[in-house]
Amino acid sequence: MNHKGLLVVVCGPSGVGKGTICREIVGRNENVYVSISATTRKPRKGETDGVHYYYKTEQEFENMIESDELLEWAKYCKNYYGTPKTSIETMLDDGKDVILEIDVQGALQVKRNFPDGILIFILPPSLNELKDRIVGRGTESDDVIHARLLAAKGELKHVNEYDYIIVNDKLHHAVSSLESIITAEKCRLKRNIQTVERMCGDDIPSDW
Ligand code: 5GP
Repeated sequence: MNHKGLLVVVCGPSGVGKGTICREIVGRNENVYVSISATTRKPRKGETDGVHYYYKTEQEFENMIESDELLEWAKYCKNYYGTPKTSIETMLDDGKDVILEIDVQGALQVKRNFPDGILIFILPPSLNELKDRIVGRGTESDDVIHARLLAAKGELKHVNEYDYIIVNDKLHHAVSSLESIITAEKCRLKRNIQTVERMCGDDIPSDW
């Protein structure tokens, strides 16, 4: 029985720990993949092209928009970010679950275009804790930290558009909440109609 995979959008402010949660999920579930986005942001120390992002120039990114290569895209703190369409639809058709780790603007586009997608918002325990996490990462200048905290406040206003909320207070709680959501979504009646219909059409075994 080949079920279509789930499209899971994991969203939430910069520094909330989306990447760490998604990496844990992928490490524990061989059927789950995280999409690699394209961006015009410069690579941080330790980031690799094709692993963390596909790093593009503005012109290259705008060409991707023009030629309809992106499932969704957004400008976030002066840089473009977007999800390449390639391979996502194939993975879903093959029954693989795909996580998009994206910002609120992108999540709302996915919601419009893929009503079956599941939208999950990761909250920090508090904005103060969020600031400490971004500062502690040591990868951004003060200006960028300020812009990202402002963006976080804006993102929180859209929280009621999501299907699920997870508070990332302890990593293992957040990971197990996300796994539980994926498991529950797979059990929804609408995703199992064919199984039910097939069974209703089966004859009672003849050796009964
Ligand atoms: P960062 O620069 O910290 O890697 O990412 C900044 C923000 O861009 C994060 O909120 C991240 O989730 C978001 N982001 C990453 N990839 C994409 C994407 O493909 N589309 C959209 N809309 N946002 C993305």
